[in-house]
Amino acid sequence: MARYTDSSCRLCRRENLKLFLKGDRCYSEKCAFERRGYAPGDHGQAHKKQRSDYGVQLREKQKLKRLYGLLEKQFRGYFKKADQQKGITGTNLLIFLERRLDNMIFRMGMANSRVEARQLISHGHFLINGKAVNIPSYLLKAGDQVSVKEGSRKITRVLEAMETVARRGVPHWLELDKENFKASIKLLPVREDLTMPVQEQLVVELYSK
Ligand code: SF4
Repeated sequence: MARYTDSSCRLCRRENLKLFLKGDRCYSEKCAFERRGYAPGDHGQAHKKQRSDYGVQLREKQKLKRLYGLLEKQFRGYFKKADQQKGITGTNLLIFLERRLDNMIFRMGMANSRVEARQLISHGHFLINGKAVNIPSYLLKAGDQVSVKEGSRKITRVLEAMETVARRGVPHWLELDKENFKASIKLLPVREDLTMPVQEQLVVELYSK
């Protein structure tokens, strides 16, 4: 499956949710969702048809997948792993997604979006527990420490993100040490910590058919 190359803002409008895919713009009045909070296309404002159960489940899966910027194959891979683990599959799925390095870098405030985090990671700007890692899907665990490489501490995108992090806040399970360009995972989040409006159970139902 090809990577999505159309406007990111269309995805927010399609999912009826701010997915925060464009960094700074998402917090400004230029945000397309704030200006046109209806589905894209000619019929975006038309009366919505009642969705089938399948349609509702599919929309929820697309929303979650797009929030974390994943392709179908990657997303399904996480579902498989989540299903094989003990506990509630939907919660396991969310925790796997949260543990991705690109998500953590975004949550820690070292990038303005998950897309930006992915680019910075691929260019080798971060260390995990002192070792260079350039894999955005790397899964972090409680106790891990992420830092910006010394030679990368003047990158404008990193500096801008860290300057504006207060705007969205750092979750309580993470600890950011802005002065030293470091952050650590105090503990992994639990379901109640993840406040974005997703119903992961619908994704489980979709994939369990
Ligand atoms: Fe979504 Fe950000 Fe575009 Fe707003 S600016 S519609 S939050 S990607």
